[in-house]
Amino acid sequence: MESGKQTILIIEDEEAIAELERDYLEQAGYLVKIANDGDSGAERALAGDFSLIILDLMLPGIDGFEVCRMVREKKDIPILMVSAKKEDYDKVRGLGFGADDYITKPFSPSELTARVKAHLARYERLTGSAMQEMSRKNRTVEIRGLCIDKDARRVYVNGEEKIMTNKEFDLLTYLAERPNRVFTKDDLFRAIWAMEAVGDTATVTVHIKKIREKIEINSSDPQYIETIWGVGYRFKL
Ligand code: CA
Repeated sequence: MESGKQTILIIEDEEAIAELERDYLEQAGYLVKIANDGDSGAERALAGDFSLIILDLMLPGIDGFEVCRMVREKKDIPILMVSAKKEDYDKVRGLGFGADDYITKPFSPSELTARVKAHLARYERLTGSAMQEMSRKNRTVEIRGLCIDKDARRVYVNGEEKIMTNKEFDLLTYLAERPNRVFTKDDLFRAIWAMEAVGDTATVTVHIKKIREKIEINSSDPQYIETIWGVGYRFKL
C-alpha cells in the first residue's frame, strides 16, 4: 500500500457520483479506485487489497447484493452499501448479506466520509483485538466468554466446561479462529469432514445446532455462531 494509505474501492455505475465520492475520500486521505459495474467490481474487490468497499446496489451486470455476498464469502472488510431506495435497507439487513452499513442517496459527502472513518476504525479495533487474543496464547481462542483450549480440546463458556464431541469441537474451533468470515455449509463440510466424506451439508446444520445448544444462552438468538440466511454461518466477533 502506497505510503501506508488505506485504499477504498467504489463500485458505482453513475460516474458523477463515483467521482464525487472519490474526491471527498481522497481529500480525507484515502486512496480510491473505482469500478463501474458489478462484474469488474467483484473481480477487483476479490483480487485487490482494499480496506473498505462502497457498494452501489443497482449496478449493470451482477447487482450489489450479489457482489456483497461474493466478497463476504472471502473477505471481512467493511462494506458500505449505497442505494437510492429506502426500502432496500430492510432487505440488506433482513437477508444478511453481510453489509456493515447502508446509506441512502442522496447523502452528503461529509456523512459518507464520517461513516467510512468510523467503519475503518471499528474494523481495525476488532481485527487488532482478535489478533491479540489469539497470539497471547496461540493454543487457546478466547472470544466474549467463550474459551477454547485447543491442547486439552476443551470448551468453556464463562468458566463452565461444555462437553463437545470431536466434530463439534473441530467445527466450533474452525469458525472461532476465523471470526467474521462467512462460510457455506459446503465449505465447512469440506474443512471438517474432508477425508471421511460420509454425510452431507445437513451434517453441518445438525452440528451447529448441537454446538449452539451447548454454548448459547438462547440458541434461537445466537451470540456466537450467526446464521447468514441463504449463505451459511459466521462466528461473530
Ligand atoms: Ca446505480
